[in-house]
Amino acid sequence: MLVRFWGTRGSLPVAPHADVALAKVARALVAAGGRRFADEAEAAKFARAELDFATYGAFGGATPCVEIEADEDAFAICDMGSGLRDFGLSATRRCAEGHPRVYHFFLSHLHWDHIMGFPFFRPAYETGARIVIHTGHADAEAALRRQQEAISFPVPFDELKAHIEFIVHRPEESFEAAGMEVSLVRQSHARGSFGYRFDRPGKAVVYSTDAEHKPEDMDLEEDVEAFFANADLVICDTMYSLGEAVSLKQDLGHSSNVVAVDLCHSAGARRLALFHHEPSYSDADIQRMHEETLRYEEAVRGERPRLEVLCAYDGLEVSL
Ligand SMILES: [Zn+2]
Ligand SMILES: [Zn+2]
Repeated sequence: MLVRFWGTRGSLPVAPHADVALAKVARALVAAGGRRFADEAEAAKFARAELDFATYGAFGGATPCVEIEADEDAFAICDMGSGLRDFGLSATRRCAEGHPRVYHFFLSHLHWDHIMGFPFFRPAYETGARIVIHTGHADAEAALRRQQEAISFPVPFDELKAHIEFIVHRPEESFEAAGMEVSLVRQSHARGSFGYRFDRPGKAVVYSTDAEHKPEDMDLEEDVEAFFANADLVICDTMYSLGEAVSLKQDLGHSSNVVAVDLCHSAGARRLALFHHEPSYSDADIQRMHEETLRYEEAVRGERPRLEVLCAYDGLEVSL
């Protein structure tokens, strides 16, 4: 299985201002200390080896969209945030090389940051493409139709050329899709959200975003632990650091890095991807949170095997 992150930011797409790039270039030049490079490739090699990710790279600003590549017959995509536009362009290129035009979507919920990419999803405009939208929300179709009403968007939903179907699932019923066994669980969030678990023989990925796990209610999290059990990768909503989650941001429907580590440790998961980054956080802020999370994981690990903590960014690929 291969997991590709097309959008990792929460709530609102963000793009850096000009002064952000300038600060990165200035930091890199100071770090290079007058060193000379034969060409850009050599300079890029230096940057990767010597600079931190927040300086040479960026976490990106597209809202949630994660592809899970498990099967050659169909695409599998979690959520339709603004990252979906880039996925659509990539998929169009892959289909030109022979990939079947079948798309299975798994919607966590219907908040705007998780559906806003669909009107810009090019395959939806193609005759012959098949789109299956799996959801736990009975009103998913209404939400997608509404965002393409004339007051908001120039092309109505009914003019999309692809064959589009909606399948509403119940949390207790698992199903087969895109070559995987899929199960979903209800999560605490405004109007409810659903986490998905994708199993193939010997491999499992969990996509669990927009879910609030309150630190004082960890005893109630046994269902979540069972859902995360022995997963190779858990993609988890870690919008806030614990300090913020218990003070300023309580009851906003999101979770902290610390709670995600605790749940993954209890569940025996192997990797955690921090996800749904707060839109006001800079690259340096997100990197700092990642470093804090690594230190926390090490401090509380005890006798358990190491939980590898990744920090998701737009463009990250994780192979399992
Ligand atoms: Zn969200
Ligand atoms: Zn939400």
